[in-house]
Amino acid sequence: MRLTFHGAAGGVTGSQHKLESNGANILLDCGMFQGRRKEAEKKNREMPFPARSIDAVVLSHAHIDHSGRLPLLVQEGFHGPIYTTPATIDLCASMLRDTAHIAESDAAFVNRHHPDDERAEPLYTMADADATMPLFRPVEYRTPTEIAGGLTMESYDAGHILGSSSIVLTDGKTRLAFSGDVGRPGLPIIRDPEPLPPVDYLIMESTYGSRKHPQEGEALGRLEEVVKRTIGRGGRLIIPAFAVGRTQQIVLLLHQLIDEQRIPAVPMFVDSPLAVDVTKTFRAHPECFDEETARYLKEGADPFGFKRLSYVREAEGSKKLNDLRGPFIVISPSGMCEAGRVLHHLMHNVGDPKNTVLITGYQAENTLGRKLLTGMKTVRIFGIPTEVRAEVQSLNELSGHADADELISWMKPMTPTLKRVFLVHGEKEESGPLAARILATYGVEAIPVAPGQIYDL
Ligand SMILES: [Zn+2]
Ligand SMILES: [Zn+2]
Repeated sequence: MRLTFHGAAGGVTGSQHKLESNGANILLDCGMFQGRRKEAEKKNREMPFPARSIDAVVLSHAHIDHSGRLPLLVQEGFHGPIYTTPATIDLCASMLRDTAHIAESDAAFVNRHHPDDERAEPLYTMADADATMPLFRPVEYRTPTEIAGGLTMESYDAGHILGSSSIVLTDGKTRLAFSGDVGRPGLPIIRDPEPLPPVDYLIMESTYGSRKHPQEGEALGRLEEVVKRTIGRGGRLIIPAFAVGRTQQIVLLLHQLIDEQRIPAVPMFVDSPLAVDVTKTFRAHPECFDEETARYLKEGADPFGFKRLSYVREAEGSKKLNDLRGPFIVISPSGMCEAGRVLHHLMHNVGDPKNTVLITGYQAENTLGRKLLTGMKTVRIFGIPTEVRAEVQSLNELSGHADADELISWMKPMTPTLKRVFLVHGEKEESGPLAARILATYGVEAIPVAPGQIYDL
């Protein structure tokens, strides 16, 4: 087996690793780069190999930084199978179309506002996203499945988002595990990460390789504080959130706060057609739920809906929110403030000190979310310099990624036979310290990989 690291190597986004086995080329993930716009744009457009040379794709989960360039791969000539879990396929059906739609409308917006600049073209179109869906092949958890190049794959629940998986690949001699994104025990809705069997090599994410998360239980109290303070000022609370997972978690927490009468009953909106579709997908996959959420359903309660909450599908409804008087809460993607409706909400609201922006997940370097989080006073939104006067807060308690301690204990069952770990999906400041810790704890060499590096296994 030979591994080449193409994306999420030395950074978090653009997850893409190529595995060669017996003359077949298998791609592990085909994700999108996010970050400095022009730079990410360029990286996204340049596939580092001919798309036709790829025989199959194995996809860890539906997040766009893992799945987002599949339509581009198809547009460039890939027509092999894409293996992943049934829930991931359903999520991709909405997410890839949504990404295409956003790319199309962002390009149109830029072209309208900067008619003199070079014409902006979307990375891919809705038609490319539609052409991708028939290539998906469902693989259930813990079901060994033959793919290409004499390889067998078996996936395990990664506990990160609905349908997320960690995958073990073997040619009968060598066993390689790919962590995908590793979740955490105790997250709302989904199950805890499953242990993997012993393997020879491990490709592991390192998003929070040097950090420790606050306890999960504190999220509710922190959210309560932020809501009360913002509403007390008569302001609006803008919550940029991933449409998949994070949005449903925030809705659950707000539901709980309202039920317990801990926050005033102001209007609340989930503003995203994608989040509407994804919430439907969640309801369709109770097999992925943890016991607590399954019980909720059994009792006939809808964990994702309550009286004060409206789901906004149409763009008209979204625009109307700008004119709404009085305080309200809006949850809207994208999570890193890179695209989508949240950009319009930010453009209209970051200038007012009454309002709050609540960041709810990891913000990659150079994203608008990271800039807000680090306290930049002027940011560019749709290319327009915009002053930031609103309060900016973050809620890291809901992180979908294991922290350093959790990664170390998650990998333990694999270590008896482990020869080497490749650290991906993390900035150097995170993967470096994690590599040192893996060596100290298990005596196993761990390498923070760089783009383009090749290893023979
Ligand atoms: Zn993810
Ligand atoms: Zn990721």
